[in-house]
Amino acid sequence: MKILLIYCDDSSIARFGEKRKEFPPIGLLYLAASCEANNIEVELVNIYSQDISKLEHHHIIGLSINSSYNYTSFYNHIQMLREKCDILVVGGQHATIFPQQTLTELLADYLIIGEGEYALPQLIHKIYNNDAVFVSNIITKDNISNVYSENYRIDDLDVLPIPARHLMKKEDILLDKRIYGEDIKSISLITSRGCPHNCEFCANVYKGFRHRSAENVELEIAQLILDYPEMKGLVFLDENLLFSEEHMTQICDRISKYKLKWTCNARVDCFNYTLINKMRDSGCVEVKYGLESGSQRILDRMNKKITLSQISEALIGTHKVGIRTKCFLLFGFPGDNLESAKETIDFLSLHEKYISRINLFNFSPLPNSPIFKKLGNVMDNRNLNNFRLYNQQVHWWGTQSDYEEMLTAYEILTKFINERYGENGKGSCN
Ligand code: SF4
Repeated sequence: MKILLIYCDDSSIARFGEKRKEFPPIGLLYLAASCEANNIEVELVNIYSQDISKLEHHHIIGLSINSSYNYTSFYNHIQMLREKCDILVVGGQHATIFPQQTLTELLADYLIIGEGEYALPQLIHKIYNNDAVFVSNIITKDNISNVYSENYRIDDLDVLPIPARHLMKKEDILLDKRIYGEDIKSISLITSRGCPHNCEFCANVYKGFRHRSAENVELEIAQLILDYPEMKGLVFLDENLLFSEEHMTQICDRISKYKLKWTCNARVDCFNYTLINKMRDSGCVEVKYGLESGSQRILDRMNKKITLSQISEALIGTHKVGIRTKCFLLFGFPGDNLESAKETIDFLSLHEKYISRINLFNFSPLPNSPIFKKLGNVMDNRNLNNFRLYNQQVHWWGTQSDYEEMLTAYEILTKFINERYGENGKGSCN
């Protein structure tokens, strides 16, 4: 039994189109590990590193598609991929939220909705053995009415095998200079899934928050040290590594002995001084905060559920203990205008010495986000290829004059960030 899993590391979709290696496709590496644990051979191919037309024919090809990130890349190659296999299995966020389109536009035979670590190996066994075993989160043309269910979420993440990084070249796993300010090699990993929040712009499909035990995380890190002795840093990819103070404290206690430098994403409302000191002592060198805006009016509209004073406390406190801060900003959200740009600039100016770098994103209503649903008919009259995370300048909301004001305000904000933080706000290092 075998599956060819195809991923897409396309520098043109990387932030700001920079030529740099993206982090390995961690979700696909989890799927690959689950297949291998079920005696299924796995081959992994990057759609951009080899001529797909020369690919050997495979019985089963699998793709994991994210609507706002790699949909267009797969869509553009789909005819060729279809010719290279008997059976095409598509999973990922796109299959979960757009099952009908995925079956028709992406010519899939089977969709996996929700998390696929159990379903994919079961489906492959079913295909090879030609049996009628029921696999719960599978959609075909015959059962298109099947919808995402909370049951398709894996509650105990500790039971999953660690990602099958051995399927990729070492230089694609161990990345240079991906921790800002540190000239070291690092590896990315993830300790949790899901998010209980409901920010209007966020396309996160899985709401229930779950995390791996600190012990399980340490097992993976110890294995990484054995497999990649040159590794000196870790990049935690979790949406918010600080979600549980107790869990974060346990992780810090377990990883400090390895003397690695590490970085993570966090919500400002999870900041506290005890925790940040602990993080610094265990090797944390940068925390990336989702600020989004310096306007409380816009933060409230985004349903971000944070205040400017929380942002202020997190930035100042993190800087104070000697950890760098990176801020993610989003501009162009419904209601953004010259006033919210000015408020954001004023806020950033006030906190300039506490911020190491900034990434500014244009707003685009990402498929599955609450705002995408509220903007209503966007799916009917616009091409799905437009709904992308990076570099969108599309008139999504408001009148023509609102749009023009928003564009002017965006330019002013961009100019401010570029002047203070350099081109792209020193965004090149994630
Ligand atoms: S933006 Fe972050 S905090 Fe908000 S819903 Fe998404 S993952 Fe959760």
